[in-house]
Amino acid sequence: MTQKTIFKKIIDREIPAEIEYEDELCLAFKDIHPQAPVHLVVIPKKEIPMVDDITEEDEATIGHLFVVMRTIARQLGLTGGYRVVVNNGPDAGQEVMHVHYHMLAGRKFGWPPG
Ligand code: 5GP
Repeated sequence: MTQKTIFKKIIDREIPAEIEYEDELCLAFKDIHPQAPVHLVVIPKKEIPMVDDITEEDEATIGHLFVVMRTIARQLGLTGGYRVVVNNGPDAGQEVMHVHYHMLAGRKFGWPPG
């Protein structure tokens, strides 16, 4: 059996996290090393290692994550906007092999990203 990722351990409540939102399909929690005043990690509960592994059967789940981010943005009053970042694979800097969206807000972001 392969080892659980950190994010799977957070889903299973084996390690703590500051959870901002949860439902049957997903979880959103504060990033442990925030890169902005608001920095949440939004994940499906289904274990999908990376964007490149998403299949047609995941479409509803992945779409749901965006609706959840919109809900969270309203809850937190992110009227100035927010950035959603997904790292896929080593060149993009993906460290945790469980699909996740970084939701960042509370400051201005540069473009292009680093
Ligand atoms: P990646 O580089 O894979 O796109 O992003 C992984 C993110 O997970 C990083 O921003 C990192 O700070 C965050 N992270 C890693 N380990 C933990 C942890 O144990 N708890 C929380 N809340 N975030 C974590």
